Amino acid sequence: EALNKILDIKGSIRVFCRVRPFLLSDRRRIHEPISIGLEKVVVKSVGIRKEYRYDKVFHQAATQEDVFVEVEPILRSALDGHNVCILAYGQTGTGKTFTMDGTNNQAGIIPRAIEELFRQASLDNSSITFSMSMLEVYMGNLRDLLAPKVASRTYEVAAKCLNIQTDPKGMVEVEGLTQVQIPDTAKAKWWYAKGRRARSTSWTNVNETSSRSHCLMRITISRHGDDSKAKAQVSKLWMVDLGGSERLLKTGATGQTMDEGRAINLSLSALGDVIAALRRKRGHVPYRNSKLTQILKDSLGHSSKVLMLVHISPCEEDVGETICSLSFANRAR
Ligand code: ADP
Ligand code: MG
Repeated sequence: EALNKILDIKGSIRVFCRVRPFLLSDRRRIHEPISIGLEKVVVKSVGIRKEYRYDKVFHQAATQEDVFVEVEPILRSALDGHNVCILAYGQTGTGKTFTMDGTNNQAGIIPRAIEELFRQASLDNSSITFSMSMLEVYMGNLRDLLAPKVASRTYEVAAKCLNIQTDPKGMVEVEGLTQVQIPDTAKAKWWYAKGRRARSTSWTNVNETSSRSHCLMRITISRHGDDSKAKAQVSKLWMVDLGGSERLLKTGATGQTMDEGRAINLSLSALGDVIAALRRKRGHVPYRNSKLTQILKDSLGHSSKVLMLVHISPCEEDVGETICSLSFANRAR
């Protein structure tokens, strides 16, 4: 029992790394700076040799199935009543959205998780129900992606509706956030697609969307026992496509873009600080420093399970960003 407890705590934060394959648009050189082992990544470039270790490393040819197999156990934890948080981290263009959403032919973690949750629930004796919420965090404002007529709402209006509340038990709730019942996988995917559309319509360029805001999707799992009067056991599964981690100087950002980048950088470093504090297992955990960490508070600490997937580029010109991402992830580990 005690040993189990220790293993449990030790296993509560896991960090995986995934390298995206070369794309046609990459300026491919003969020298490839990234080499990979099962649990390590080595970066070699002019005057640099750095080695990083993670719980798991996925090479360029790893499939969506390969990744999902490793994610599956954490879904089981969510069904068992743990709060779970799966976070995709990395520079823009390294495959965060590919990993979380995937494409039509190569489904990512979210559609696969939906299938798997319903499959597991159908095997379970107790009755399990699911509901879904989606929100975007942009420059410290929250936007409800499943709210009716979301396109016409401005951030300011939405932000006013959405306050983050913590109940006496430490459970976090975003006040006023739309939560829809999802009776089956088809409906779940329908709502999910709707939320994603709501996200992109508010931006002129879809690619910019994901680099300047965080997209958070939550599946709430309620387990009802035989006693219909007893309260359901509730757990949360968060699946988060984080904003791009790239630093500002390289992109030559100015004005609005600069502010957006700064907001993302601040919230990502707040996330890094929280995870680092949780790993030390004592002392103050600085959840309050960003909206992102406030929302995820009850799914990052204590008995929750966290999986961070760090994405990196295989390209020489990205080595600087790659090292930043790998160091960030190392700190979490
Ligand atoms: P991000 O969300 O981090 O900005 P994307 O997921 O949009 O990055 O990926 C950038 C591009 O690279 C997309 O065209 C995507 O399809 C492709 N890509 C990323 N990772 C992979 C992968 N593992 N296999 C194949 N294509 C990938
Ligand atoms: Mg993206």
